[in-house]
Amino acid sequence: MGGASNAGQSSRLFDTYVRMPVSLVRGQGPWLFDDQGRRYLDALSGIAVCSLGHAHPRLAEVIADQAATLLHTANIVRIPQQEALANALCDISGLDRAFIANSGAEAIECALKLARRHAHARGIEKPAILVASDSFHGRTLAALSASGNAAIQAGFGPLVDGFVRVPFGDLEAASAAFEANPDIVAALIEPIQGEGGVRPAPSGYLAGLRALCDRQQALLMLDEIQTGMARTGKWFAFQHEPGLMPDVMTVAKALGNGIPIGACLARESVAHLLPAGSHGTTFGGNPLACRVGLEVIEIMREQAIPERAAAMGELLKQELEAGLSDVPGVVEIRGKGLMMGIELAEPVTELKDQAMAKGLIINITRGNTIRLLPPLIVDREQVAQIAAIVIELIKTRFQA
Ligand SMILES: *Cc1c(COP(=O)(O)O)cnc(C)c1O
Repeated sequence: MGGASNAGQSSRLFDTYVRMPVSLVRGQGPWLFDDQGRRYLDALSGIAVCSLGHAHPRLAEVIADQAATLLHTANIVRIPQQEALANALCDISGLDRAFIANSGAEAIECALKLARRHAHARGIEKPAILVASDSFHGRTLAALSASGNAAIQAGFGPLVDGFVRVPFGDLEAASAAFEANPDIVAALIEPIQGEGGVRPAPSGYLAGLRALCDRQQALLMLDEIQTGMARTGKWFAFQHEPGLMPDVMTVAKALGNGIPIGACLARESVAHLLPAGSHGTTFGGNPLACRVGLEVIEIMREQAIPERAAAMGELLKQELEAGLSDVPGVVEIRGKGLMMGIELAEPVTELKDQAMAKGLIINITRGNTIRLLPPLIVDREQVAQIAAIVIELIKTRFQA
């Protein structure tokens, strides 16, 4: 019993996940430990969540303190931690208002509801929202309907309608869609597609969408759930494009460093589309989650984590490019900051188990792309270690 493997043991959980036969029971910084005491370097951060690493002492302290003080009141009263978090999020993003939810998908639902309200306020009864191929926005019915992924939609029809899909990164296609459909009231886009294979929007794409949205009074809504909170070397990925501002933005994943939380941010005039009674959540914005989110932002500020992610990301990219320059099977190395993808010529899902056996946790998206999302606190030595193991795995796989 116990042991490194729970494969073969009966579990009464839904079969919704293919899980590696490993139980991780403890973490420290960028390190994770299994129930056999084996140590792993984390190059995934629980899918871009634990950006400050595991068992962070300051987060552990505020969690314990808040738990001993007050966990929940519901949104029938003012929640000072929620107001402070909204201020901090607006500060780092340049947006004006925040709705605090519990997850990414819920932040997306809020954004989609804003788009619908925006349409109805303009007298558009059958509005459409522009979305991209290969996008991922979450697993609730509306979020999976917005996603460009047949696998997560299969068997769940009828899907929520009102989405117009265009190829990601193709500004002409977006322009044609706007022209053909005056009822497009918003565009929902990831600045770098995460689940879609770590694909950065081509430069100028977001600015081009901004102009198209402006021409048609549509909202530019950016899904920064994976790219946000310093991951790409800025607080938010859209900030790599000088002068660009979205109307709506969703955040989640790293905001709570493991405590569930999500947020939908908006410009003042857009936020007003959801007045009292029009939207809500029981758990969202509770004192615990908000206190943690606030502490995450404070730590990231004090320790210049966005700048650190940029520098370590540059180093990771250099190491990967140097080590893989003449390796067959490597199609492309792409990404920004510490969100890096290595597209390979063939499906390589077995590489994540091989990495695990070498003490490194990675992830594969779209079957053929290694995705690296290490905690943003990794040092130079750990970056070199991640690159060395990944390079060795790829060489072994493609030079055999
Ligand atoms: C993870 C993710 C979501 C969904 O977030 P959940 O917290 O799993 O609901 C939405 N959009 C993007 C870009 C994501 O990476």
